[in-house]
Amino acid sequence: METFRHNLAPGEVKIFLKTVGELTENLFIHYCFKTPAACPQCGRPGLCRAAAVSLLSSSFDKVTHEISVCLKCRYKALSTVTTCESL
Ligand SMILES: [Zn+2]
Repeated sequence: METFRHNLAPGEVKIFLKTVGELTENLFIHYCFKTPAACPQCGRPGLCRAAAVSLLSSSFDKVTHEISVCLKCRYKALSTVTTCESL
């Protein structure tokens, strides 16, 4: 079952979802793609970048969080995206 866009191999998707599982309780992941960037923790390339939307957000199509995940050492980082949307 794949509800988001990504460029990962099927096995990598599983690792990704397992890794971010505890972070994404209230998040819907829009997309995830593997980049050549090196992991800040283990230094190996292939850091995955993902964008997610908070399910608590009023505008569902707006990215609210960015997630960096390393499939090798399970490094993960979640950051909030600040937008300039007028209230
Ligand atoms: Zn790593």
